[in-house]
Amino acid sequence: MTAKERFLRYVKYDTTSDEGSETCPSTAKQLILLKDLHSELLSMGVDAEIDENGYVYAKIPSNVGDKSKICFIAHVDTSPAVSGKDVNPVLVDYKGGDVVLKNGVKITESDTPDLKKYVGKELIVTDGSTLLGADDKAGVAEIMTAVEILVSNPQIKHGDVFIAFTPDEEIGRGTDKFNLKDFGADFGYTVDGGALGEIEYENFNAASLSLTVNGVSIHPGSAKNIMKNAVDLFCEFHALLPEVMRPNATEGYEGFYMADEISGSIESLSCKYIIRNHDMRKFTAMKQYVLDTVEFLNKKHGEGVFIAQIKDSYYNMSEIIKNNFHLIDNAKYAMQSVGIEPIIIPIRGGTDGARLSYEGLPCPNLSTGGYNFHGRREFIPSFALEKMVEVILKLVDVYSKD
Ligand SMILES: [Zn+2]
Repeated sequence: MTAKERFLRYVKYDTTSDEGSETCPSTAKQLILLKDLHSELLSMGVDAEIDENGYVYAKIPSNVGDKSKICFIAHVDTSPAVSGKDVNPVLVDYKGGDVVLKNGVKITESDTPDLKKYVGKELIVTDGSTLLGADDKAGVAEIMTAVEILVSNPQIKHGDVFIAFTPDEEIGRGTDKFNLKDFGADFGYTVDGGALGEIEYENFNAASLSLTVNGVSIHPGSAKNIMKNAVDLFCEFHALLPEVMRPNATEGYEGFYMADEISGSIESLSCKYIIRNHDMRKFTAMKQYVLDTVEFLNKKHGEGVFIAQIKDSYYNMSEIIKNNFHLIDNAKYAMQSVGIEPIIIPIRGGTDGARLSYEGLPCPNLSTGGYNFHGRREFIPSFALEKMVEVILKLVDVYSKD
């Protein structure tokens, strides 16, 4: 079965994750696909298991003795940002220009300049009413197809190859219950990136800031010199964060502060921010700036008026990958040897691989070939699915020799 055939089958599963849920997987519907992937691996003759949290693990034992133990990881859930129910993939023979989806929504050349690379190629798009789910069912389909090729062609030499499919990546919990202790791989790749050729190993350092502002409420008619309006005080704090360090003013390696959520009134107000920077020194300085600002404002308005709690979320995996740079060199080599131009760009976000890298499994991220993730304009060129299968097999080949 081709990766395209698999992909068209997997996108039919509704696997939207849910941040509000406490369970793992966050939605029971993810388990349906995870169980089916487990069965599909077993039916190929692969040693696979599914644990109580829905994580699927598999191992294809080495046929060349003791070599590096490589892994490939993808997630089955889709973003809650847009519906993933009743996904109806449409095949388009792309002739150029804007792509008009069934319900009139357009994928335009100006929004997606890469479209012009795919003139004459087949694209898999949505009907315009849902996301597609290439993030990350393209990764799942590519890995599964590579596994099938490996197990049905015993003449292909390979070391131990490990596979994992996880739930809940989109809500930041993809690695929370990952059983790294028993997994067995030395290092590997998540297959969860965008355009064909992307190799990602630099992500943000990330923290969350929870700010509480304690005001003093009194009837406005008799408020003179008594009222401390938490709304005004909050505005004072927010204005001290540089406007040029907001997501809408930054790109590349530029970090940002972003106010995410706010609630409150005169008496008390709370706000959540996220803080992001690729550079650890700058990241630390950004967090310190918040603490210094709070101290400054408390001196002005009274101790305890502002309370800041900062919690680190994840770190830039480049710190770990730089000691395992063969992963990047080999990914570049694997792509070039199947005719793909490698694209190395910093991720302005995090990946499951970032967490795994810090927990002992160095894990950069490879492209899936897809575009416009988390939206109704999501699409993937069909040939990209098969190309990534070739990249995975090439990497398996490289690590069968080291
Ligand atoms: Zn993803």
